[in-house]
Amino acid sequence: MFMPPTRLRFTASLALLVLSHAGNFAAAQDRPVVLRVSTVLDGRGKILRNTVIVVESGKIASVGGAAPQGAITYDLSTLTVLPGWIDAHVHPTWHFDATGKLAGENEPKEQTVLAGAANSWKMLTAGFTTVQSLGSPLDKDLRDAIDRLGLPGPHILTSLDPIFGRGEATGTPDELRAVVQQHAKNGADVIKIFASGSIREGGKPTLSQDQLNAICSEAKKVGLRTVVHAYGPSVRMASLAGCTEVEHGLYATDDDLRFLAEHGTYFDPQAGLVLQNYLDNKPHYLGIGNYTEAAFDLMQKVLPEFQELFRHAIRTLGLKVIFGTDAVAGAHGRNAEEFVFRVQTCGQDPMAALVSANSLAAEALGIQDRAGSIAPGLDADIIALDGDPLKDITAVRRVVFVMRGGKAFVNQPPVQNK
Ligand SMILES: [Zn+2]
Repeated sequence: MFMPPTRLRFTASLALLVLSHAGNFAAAQDRPVVLRVSTVLDGRGKILRNTVIVVESGKIASVGGAAPQGAITYDLSTLTVLPGWIDAHVHPTWHFDATGKLAGENEPKEQTVLAGAANSWKMLTAGFTTVQSLGSPLDKDLRDAIDRLGLPGPHILTSLDPIFGRGEATGTPDELRAVVQQHAKNGADVIKIFASGSIREGGKPTLSQDQLNAICSEAKKVGLRTVVHAYGPSVRMASLAGCTEVEHGLYATDDDLRFLAEHGTYFDPQAGLVLQNYLDNKPHYLGIGNYTEAAFDLMQKVLPEFQELFRHAIRTLGLKVIFGTDAVAGAHGRNAEEFVFRVQTCGQDPMAALVSANSLAAEALGIQDRAGSIAPGLDADIIALDGDPLKDITAVRRVVFVMRGGKAFVNQPPVQNK
């Protein structure tokens, strides 16, 4: 290891201190980790019993193999173990400011980003090891700080700023192709598109079929996925345009849902958390932007309609319904409440609900080679619940162990060093 000459003064010894800590960290990371488990939901719908998961260099080295000598061992045998969850729709920078109100655009950027860091930590400790932010340009620094600087948080995929449909004014197909290329250059992981207007006006399309075709085909060309905020007719238009994922989907007909299933379009409807969170936090939102009394009345009214749509979605044969909460201010760290709405309120099978936030979401986000399952070669993004979510879905609220990339960030059960 690099050793600085002893004559170097204060700044150098600080550097040495940092280096030696880095060395210890690397050594701890290099030591294999063994998770002793009795119940594993593998993220693909299978249950594994009484086995060991071996983690090496941040990845799952084996499941059911021999435990290596000198490993750090975590005994998770009283818990239910599963892959870290994936939330396909979050807004980490949304938060309430010091006055208790939804923070606005005029807030200093460093405050917004710090709030994003706090929300990221909340989501990680709640069991979410990957989230897709849809989106804000500020997510880029947050994503990079987590990836490069070791800021604790989930792996973030971000759309940066979305493309807002404004009819013809949004741009010609050629202009929209250029916008997509610019997003790719700016480092976006995905393109977010608003293709429908407000629910209050019936959620009419704000982008034509030609415009959607241009955006989604150009994105495919540059290797980016597309996620479309869509209501009513825009749901089918997005699928027809070959876009990857449709969000929300209110006023989609059963026929539209079948169309999505046939075209392999991922669907992410929300069963309760986002609207209930607005209603619960009404004083923090009311009076800001379009958060009027009328808007809250509307949210109250459409909540059961969203839940009915969700029931139709899970009954649609072959439709890939993934897990995304649309977590806004007040909802970060409570993302798993969406599971409770999906299972308890809308009748989804608990295993299907969990898989929708594991392998299915990973596939939708194009990260199935890295996340979403407990299998050799994948990142060691692993969580454990105190309880059995297949019997009682509220166990998703009791996340007592969170490992991301082989590093344990939350560990409430006893640790044994062997
Ligand atoms: Zn959203």
